[in-house]
Amino acid sequence: MFQLTIMANPNQEIIYKKLFINNEFVDAQSGKTFVTLNPQTGKPLAEVAEADKADVDLAVKAAKKAFERGSAWRDMDASQRGRLINKLADLIEQHKSALANLEVLDNGKPFAEADFDIQCAIDTFRYYAGWCDKIHGNTIPADGGSLAITSKEPIGVVGQIIPWNYPTLMVSWKWAPALAAGCTIVLKPAEQTPLSALYAAALTKQAGFPSGVINVVPGFGETAGHALVIHPDVRKVAFTGSTEIGRLIAENAAKSNLKKVSLELGGKSPLVVMQDVDLDEAVEIAHNAVFANHGQCCCAGTRTFVQETIYDAFVAKSVELTRKRKVGNPFADDTLQGPQIDAESQQKILKYIELGNKQGAKLECGGNKWGNEGFFVEPTIFSNVTDNMTIAQEEIFGPVQSVIKFKTLDEVIERANKTSYGLAAGILTKNIDWALTFARAVEAGSVWINCYDAVTPQTPFGGYKQSGHGRELGEDGLEPYTETKTILVKLPTKN
Ligand code: ADP
Repeated sequence: MFQLTIMANPNQEIIYKKLFINNEFVDAQSGKTFVTLNPQTGKPLAEVAEADKADVDLAVKAAKKAFERGSAWRDMDASQRGRLINKLADLIEQHKSALANLEVLDNGKPFAEADFDIQCAIDTFRYYAGWCDKIHGNTIPADGGSLAITSKEPIGVVGQIIPWNYPTLMVSWKWAPALAAGCTIVLKPAEQTPLSALYAAALTKQAGFPSGVINVVPGFGETAGHALVIHPDVRKVAFTGSTEIGRLIAENAAKSNLKKVSLELGGKSPLVVMQDVDLDEAVEIAHNAVFANHGQCCCAGTRTFVQETIYDAFVAKSVELTRKRKVGNPFADDTLQGPQIDAESQQKILKYIELGNKQGAKLECGGNKWGNEGFFVEPTIFSNVTDNMTIAQEEIFGPVQSVIKFKTLDEVIERANKTSYGLAAGILTKNIDWALTFARAVEAGSVWINCYDAVTPQTPFGGYKQSGHGRELGEDGLEPYTETKTILVKLPTKN
């Protein structure tokens, strides 16, 4: 029954285009729809129901009801919750082709990357399925001869707002820990990429999740997203996206009902290449650290710091590799880079490239838009980049590598930390002292040694400084979805 080989199909049928509320696909109350584009062509792909405040209210009402005392979800054994999550993972595996095709059509990433993302989503669901009946508190020898216990309880209705760069994977990062903890969910996918979340919603019904546990409300940030953020019955908002919107969400959440917020935001991550590396290997790791997912990755290693003795050779080899990077149709087997997500993003990247040129960085390759249709940008490398240049400071979210020269480890640590972000960092070296000195000193939520972007379901992920609040994945990823309750029993002092 399981489909072991997955099939690319640019004509994938788009079945689910409505809001998913209380286990039903429904039109928006207003009857409004919006168009999602195919970034490869810039042409309309599907018309999707557009949620607004009225729909968010209905979805939150359904999620609140599903969380009531005595509901099927609240009364369900934790182990059964785990079985449902595993069932969902199995269904995603069975429907992997459809999901991967939707992801390519809606987002533009190459089919092989979409396939990989969906496998990572499946792994994330399976990881958290195992947690359901292992989330427990403590027994505490409290003062006064009392018996005290703590329990970890689900926080309640959670609002989840996700971006467009990893649509299905972000669904799994949000749903899996929330479901494991026993919460109920209203998710707003990004307006650019609503299709795979709606398809996954259909699978949750098939898996047997009770009505109202999972709701999906496609729509725009300022309307549907904002309504979720300020809703008085939402106890927590989990957000992945830009630092700018993250700050706004934290403010609005605080102003409404002081709901809890976890944020996974932007980055300008350093990858340090020491002079003792195998050059070809280092060039390839640094290349993938920037260009994977067309540079549309919050933890992309976009500041490539290279030690001065190997700098020129490193740049030359990087240019050689990048020139070979195949850009084009994301359904083609040999394509490594598809289009950027939309025209706005493409224009923003080209503006950064212009600034790089103006501020004196040396354009080594790329630098232009690619092709005559869609939102493509050539893979681009700048050398002679200095720390104060805009391209070394701001998140470009596109296929642009800045190669920066440094002399010593102490110097590069200081320069790596000179940013308001702190999501990830990497170092490539054979010297363990250098690697661990850097790992301890760098201000980043993830540090990768001799690899990059090695995110796994078991390991926490999140940011220092303005890269976010809280952690996703791993045991830490459950924390934002639980409250700790202390129950203290007064015991008689004498028998
Ligand atoms: P990007 O710049 O990568 O598109 P954003 O941070 O703008 O990232 O968007 C990420 C998600 O946040 C999307 O789902 C978007 O609709 C949502 N969003 C944008 N603005 C708001 C807002 N004011 N309130 C709530 N959600 C928002």
